[in-house]
Amino acid sequence: MKVLLGKPVADAIYNKAKARVSLLREYGYVPRVAMVQIGAASDDTYYKQSLVRQCEKIGIQADDVSLPKSITEEDLIHQIQLFNENPEIHGVMIFRPLPDHISNEKISSFLDHCKDVDYMNPDNLGKIIIGKSKGRLPGTPAAVMEMLDFYEIPLEGQEVVIVNRSLVVGKPLAMLLLDRNATVTVCHSKTKNLTEVMKRADIVVSAVGRAELFTSSSFDTHSVVIDVGINRRTDGSMCGDVKYAEVENRIAAITPVPRGIGAVTSAVLLRNVVYSCRQLSGLSMVASFEERWG
Ligand code: NAP
Repeated sequence: MKVLLGKPVADAIYNKAKARVSLLREYGYVPRVAMVQIGAASDDTYYKQSLVRQCEKIGIQADDVSLPKSITEEDLIHQIQLFNENPEIHGVMIFRPLPDHISNEKISSFLDHCKDVDYMNPDNLGKIIIGKSKGRLPGTPAAVMEMLDFYEIPLEGQEVVIVNRSLVVGKPLAMLLLDRNATVTVCHSKTKNLTEVMKRADIVVSAVGRAELFTSSSFDTHSVVIDVGINRRTDGSMCGDVKYAEVENRIAAITPVPRGIGAVTSAVLLRNVVYSCRQLSGLSMVASFEERWG
C-alpha cells in the first residue's frame, strides 16, 4: 500500500509560490493576507499560527486578526469593508464556522471576490462550475487534485466517489474532477447502499467528519483513498474518517491523518494569496512579468 504524504506536495507548491513572491516583490508588490479568527477556539489559533509561520517562510505578509466571538454582524461587515478597501491587502481568510448569530451567506457576499482566497464568495464558487477560476482554486478541493496529480494517480475515465456534498469540499471537488474527465458520484448521509457505491470506486474521497467511520469493508483492494476528515478520537488525538490501522495494506493507497491533505490545503490557500496579488496589482497585464511568472 502506498502512503500519500502531504508534505512533499505542499513543499512543491510552496517552492513555486516563494519564487513568485520574489518576482512580485521585484516589481514592488508584497503579497499580504488578513487572517481573521472570530472567537478563541484553540484548533483555529493553532491553524492560524502555523499559516502565519508559513507566510513568513515564503515572503507573504500576514495580518493576524482576532475578533471577539460576540462581534455583531454589522461590525464584522464593517471590518470586511476595511479589508476590501485597503489596496495593500490582497487576500482575506475568515476562519469558519462563524458564530451562530452571524450569517455565513451574508458575510460571504460582502467579501471582495478578488480577495476571497478561501472561496466564501458565491461568485467565486460559480466560476468553478464554468471552469474560469484563473489559477486560484478552493483550498481543499484543489489540495485533493494536487495530491492525486503529484502521485500520478490517473483521473480520466476513473470512477471517483466523494462522500461529502458541502460547498467547502464535495460540490467544488466534483466540478474539478469532471473537468479532468473522471466519472464522479457524490454521496451524503441519505445515500442508499453507500458501501456498495464506495466499493466500486477507483478513488474514494471521504470528508464525512466522523472519526474512523470507514474500515476495509468499505473499499475495494484496488481503491485509492483520500481521507479529508479531521476528527478527534475520545482521547483527543487526531484521526481521519478512515480507520487507518485497519485498512493498512488492504487498499492500494491512502492519505494519512495527520500528515495528509491538511498541509496541502494550507499551501493552496497561500498560493491563492500570491495569485490575488498578481491579479490586483495589474501585473498580469504586463508581458515581461507574465513571461517570468510562467
Ligand atoms: P459538513 O458540511 O458537515 O459535511 C459533511 C458531509 O458528510 C455532508 O455532506 C454529510 O451529508 C456527509 N455525511 C455525514 N455523515 C455521513 C454518513 N454517515 N454517511 C455518508 N455521508 C455522511 O463538513 P465539511 O465542512 O464539508 O467538512 C467535512 C470534514 O472534512 C470535517 O472532518 C472537516 O474537519 C474536514 N475538512 C478538512 C479539510 C482539510 O483541508 N483537510 C478542509 C475542510 C474540511 P449531508 O449533506 O446529507 O448532511
